Amino acid sequence: MDLVYSDADEAFRTEFRSWLEQSVPAHGPPPPPGDWQARRDYDTAWQRRMYDAGYAGIAWPTQFGGRGLPVSQQLVYLEEYARAGAPYISVNFVGMMHAGPTLIAEGTDEQRAFHLPRILRGESVWCQGFSEPQAGSDLASLRTRAERRGEEYVINGQKIWSTRAHVADYCELLVRTDPDAPKHEGITWLILDMHQPGVEVRPMRTIDGEAHFCEVFLTDARVPITDRVGAENDGWRVTNVTLRFERGTAFAQHIITLRSQLQDLVRLARTLPGGRWEDNALRAQVGRLSASIDGLWRMTQRGIAESEATGLPAPTGSAVKLRFSELAQELSELTVRVLGMAAVGGVDARSVEAVRTYLWSLQYTIAAGTSQIQRTLIAERVLGMPK
Ligand SMILES: Cc1cc2nc3c(=O)[nH]c(=O)nc-3n(C[C@H](O)[C@H](O)[C@H](O)COP(=O)(O)OP(=O)(O)OC[C@H]3O[C@@H](n4cnc5c(N)ncnc54)[C@H](O)[C@@H]3O)c2cc1C
Repeated sequence: MDLVYSDADEAFRTEFRSWLEQSVPAHGPPPPPGDWQARRDYDTAWQRRMYDAGYAGIAWPTQFGGRGLPVSQQLVYLEEYARAGAPYISVNFVGMMHAGPTLIAEGTDEQRAFHLPRILRGESVWCQGFSEPQAGSDLASLRTRAERRGEEYVINGQKIWSTRAHVADYCELLVRTDPDAPKHEGITWLILDMHQPGVEVRPMRTIDGEAHFCEVFLTDARVPITDRVGAENDGWRVTNVTLRFERGTAFAQHIITLRSQLQDLVRLARTLPGGRWEDNALRAQVGRLSASIDGLWRMTQRGIAESEATGLPAPTGSAVKLRFSELAQELSELTVRVLGMAAVGGVDARSVEAVRTYLWSLQYTIAAGTSQIQRTLIAERVLGMPK
């Protein structure tokens, strides 16, 4: 790939930067953590603002309402987005980053026509109902049952760790449609309408005091067969399409944010009393982190370029996800260390935020497939090692 940006890319940068310079301050600060309805309103209003300006779904094909930007401009977009400190995509994450792309790749014309514009305009919020209490890394052992009755599926079971399910309208749901088939062959991918009597959502509080994710209990919940994505019992194949989006390009925005997080850390070390920035060991660690983030960004650029060529994220996304998770944890731990006792006491907004970021970073090596699972995927699918 050519890593030099063209005049057209730079023109796009200027245009997008000037839009962000006006629009980000105009959108105001996010609501306080924990108020998820307010967060939904804030995020979906931002999504709508981007849609109206032509900046929603920049990688989605134009025929599905996206902007269909070439890969170089997708990268420029991400760089400028992070530079401006624009709002994190948050409640729109599942819809924009993997449910929408899965419907583009695998959905019917009717499903695309109904859902894609709603996702792009911020009118519908999606969550993911894959994991179960007994099915995490070994996702294919999921047990939530869907029985076909006439023109609909009737669903019973339990999902867990469904991020932001308490403010979601739809769920990308994996169910078992054939309990007698080998476990990978009896799964189906469905679109579940969350606003129905058989769906009970219970938020779960995590170590940082917030409820980011939920348990979802399904009791005779209904899904019309027209809301099935892919064929019945072919859901494992569709799931792998979703997971490649989730582990591949979906992390690009997070990765670029690491750079601003590192700059914040340097600013912190320079301003704290006690000459923290004079510590050579700290400077060496910052230098190494900086080089690692650059390397990771190059890997991301390569992954995005490959995904443009094939239409699907490359399996090297697992390597990007793995390395990103480790770097994000190292960086937020280092920030807490630099703060020292101030972090323990939570003396000001800056240290409260640093501790929150650190606690949140613990999940990176678990969510979207644990680091052990990513290593297995890299070994088998990238390096071609035996199972
Ligand atoms: C913040 C966050 C958000 C999430 N959001 C969602 C969501 O929206 N929707 C959803 O469906 N799920 C979600 N998840 C769930 C996530 O996908 C699972 O937590 C993850 O896949 C691990 O499954 P588990 O928690 O059951 O752990 P387990 O699979 O029980 O793993 C426990 C430990 O055993 C290790 N292990 C397991 N199998 C192997 C193996 N074969 N080889 C080596 N080591 C192994 C794991 O690496 C891990 O260390 C989320 C999780 C987090 C942390």
